[in-house]
Amino acid sequence: MEIGPLELLIFQGTPFCNIDCNYCYLPDRLNRTKMSLDIVREAARKLVAEEIIREDFTVLWHAGEPLVLPVEYYQQAITAIRKEMPGHLGVTYSFQTNGMLLNDDWYRFFLQHNTELGISIDGPEFIHDRNRITRSGKGTFKKVISAIELVKSYGMPLHVISVLTDFSCDYPVELHNFYKEIGVDSVCINIEEIEGVNTVSSFSDKESSKQRVVQFLRKFFDLNLADGEPFEIREFNWAKNSVLHGEWEAPGYNFTQMTGPFKTITIGTNGDFSTFSPELISQHSDRYGDFIFGNVMHDSFTASLKSEKFLRVFTDLVNGIDQCKNHCSYYGLCPGGIPSGKFSEHKTLDANETQFCRLTFQAPIDALLQMVEEAEENVLPGR
Ligand code: SF4
Repeated sequence: MEIGPLELLIFQGTPFCNIDCNYCYLPDRLNRTKMSLDIVREAARKLVAEEIIREDFTVLWHAGEPLVLPVEYYQQAITAIRKEMPGHLGVTYSFQTNGMLLNDDWYRFFLQHNTELGISIDGPEFIHDRNRITRSGKGTFKKVISAIELVKSYGMPLHVISVLTDFSCDYPVELHNFYKEIGVDSVCINIEEIEGVNTVSSFSDKESSKQRVVQFLRKFFDLNLADGEPFEIREFNWAKNSVLHGEWEAPGYNFTQMTGPFKTITIGTNGDFSTFSPELISQHSDRYGDFIFGNVMHDSFTASLKSEKFLRVFTDLVNGIDQCKNHCSYYGLCPGGIPSGKFSEHKTLDANETQFCRLTFQAPIDALLQMVEEAEENVLPGR
């Protein structure tokens, strides 16, 4: 079994979140525990010593809202990580934030460490404030927009993640205009999914959901192309690369960041570690128990891969990819899914199609292929 190399290291600095989005999947977002710096240091030390870190990689702070911890915490954490890293390795630091607590101190810190920053915003106020709310039910739009104005004033690139719901599917024009107006550099569209404690999605029981997402994406992609691509759309780039390069058609398994052992490692606040999709670290299951394979303070990463639990999880994951290969016409364009999506919907990784993959992988490919077919018909009328 090939291990790593590590591409993405996620530290769950705290499970606590200062807001309460309707579709949040995190079970523990009122818990104010904080990861000790000893855990950060020991994780970095072991990952280097066990040669799981072999090339440049990204450290992402994610779980609850990372900015509820003070700037000084991250200064110390980065110092601890740097001390353990061989000089030739590049580490990119990345934060995904709801934007509520951003201020000048944070921007100075981000610029000092050349940090990547993603801000969560779902679109204009009437869309964003339906779901992204405080614990007292107030919309968060105005605060996030102030944070975005600050990003622009510091000359940082503006990357946003937006959750697409059944409601927002009706507003591709409004969403596109909005992203242009606020000057985004890139947009990632996350489809609202059944995950963790979010057991129902606005798309859950609608036969027509895939068609709605395809129509939304087609319009959204079209608008962006017609405007000369003022910003990048992750889903468009992904579909284009998949269709042009078919990079998953290699024989055997072409493990991705979410399916390759230790290509992604998630470290929980208490030092527990997991791999594959980061969402799995907080999931429980009759079949697997949980997806925690050890604790950085007293276990070895590589030894954990020999445990009976890990082998049961990995065997199911590989069997699930085989199911995709054997049953899905998108396999080859799609890498065989995301473990957390399969687990959330089927309670096992030995599974193929999910609502998540229909909307996240199949829909962008359908949207792109429809655009290509239409363009060909226009070039060769009556063919
Ligand atoms: S689209 Fe779904 S079913 Fe098809 S290969 Fe991807 S994950 Fe598997």
